[in-house]
Amino acid sequence: MGVDRIFDNLLSNNSLFKDKKVLTHDYVPENLPHREREVSELASVLAAALRGEGRPSNVFMYGKSGTGKTVLARFVVEKLKSKGETLGLTFSSAYLNTRYRKTNYRVLASLCEELGGTSVPATGLPTDVVFDRLQKIIDSGEHLVVIILDEIDWLVKHSGDDLLYQLTRVNNILEKGEVSLVGITNDLKFREYLDRRVISSLGEESIVFNPYDAEELFDILRKRSKIAFKSNVLKENAIKVASAIAAREHGDARRAIDLLRVAGEIAEREKRERVTKEEILKAREKVEKNVVKDTIIGLPLQEKLLLLALGLHAKTGRKKVKTGELKETYESVCREMGHNPVSLRRINDLLSDLEMLGLVTSNVKSFGRYGRSRVSELEVSPGLTVEAIQSEKNLEFLAEQL
Ligand code: ADP
Ligand code: MG
Repeated sequence: MGVDRIFDNLLSNNSLFKDKKVLTHDYVPENLPHREREVSELASVLAAALRGEGRPSNVFMYGKSGTGKTVLARFVVEKLKSKGETLGLTFSSAYLNTRYRKTNYRVLASLCEELGGTSVPATGLPTDVVFDRLQKIIDSGEHLVVIILDEIDWLVKHSGDDLLYQLTRVNNILEKGEVSLVGITNDLKFREYLDRRVISSLGEESIVFNPYDAEELFDILRKRSKIAFKSNVLKENAIKVASAIAAREHGDARRAIDLLRVAGEIAEREKRERVTKEEILKAREKVEKNVVKDTIIGLPLQEKLLLLALGLHAKTGRKKVKTGELKETYESVCREMGHNPVSLRRINDLLSDLEMLGLVTSNVKSFGRYGRSRVSELEVSPGLTVEAIQSEKNLEFLAEQL
């Protein structure tokens, strides 16, 4: 291909997308079909602030991933703010996903930054001092602050529920400002981790998000794709297939939207003019791989170390490994990496977590007079595991051995 042709090709806009950002995760659409009940539930709680009825109740929202919790919280809070403006009322809001900020300190620091515009050093201050600072920021005006804490199970599993408890109590010490919390989790068992006092104050109101079915997903996808793709690019049948796949994945709208975006990219790369069922099916493979990778990247360190140990076993051809043996490998991994290993009991807990995430399968087997033992097996390819784990800098060295 001559240089001119290359430039021509690069310059000619043969993108299949009209507006690709519509298919990214943080895009907030104009409306949320099939979530009318949930929108009105959250809106009617928060509307107390518009009616001058005082602090709106805290709200706890839960449901599986991709059921629209995050987008809905942001959507309703934005609407509340703009409605408030027309009434001459000011609200502020902060949104924070604790998956990426799992310590009390980092949560507080980000809240100070988002609400007060002041930067807090990454470490160094006592947590109490940052809490006081946040309190002052909130108290600097006579207005409501809505704090959306997304994926709060990460914070609680990592740092306990003290901070949540403090935040639910902060209104008792505030003089002018008020706080309403919107807590969100994908983890349906999350309540078990919480102190009863936290449950009752965080869950003054709660909203459950049920999975979407294939028809609802079809509707959501069709509306999104109209603005995302140029006309006649995406075949209706392709949307059907994407909805059906995502419906099987517990009605996950995120998965459905990912499928469309990735299918569009594949079609572009292959210089096609349409996105069909074929591209959706190819996208499915790619998206699944990314999901596994993201899951591994998000794991706590000890679970990553365990996965590495399982990977080392898989590499030697003996995929199924007894916990006793696994423990030895895991401990040598820890030694090399300079981390303290956890107890056998904790290893069993971690294995159960990994099993729930679908990364590992394990069965208790009887070995005759040697008794019973748990046998575990890595469910994803060691290669993919390494790819994911390599993103953790200090584990690079070890991953190279796999
Ligand atoms: P969750 O927080 O429950 O995991 P999200 O709110 O992130 O799910 O939603 C996943 C994706 O699906 C986002 O891109 C979101 O915009 C989209 N989405 C979810 N529900 C709807 C809906 N009812 N209408 C339009 N898009 C939706
Ligand atoms: Mg979410």
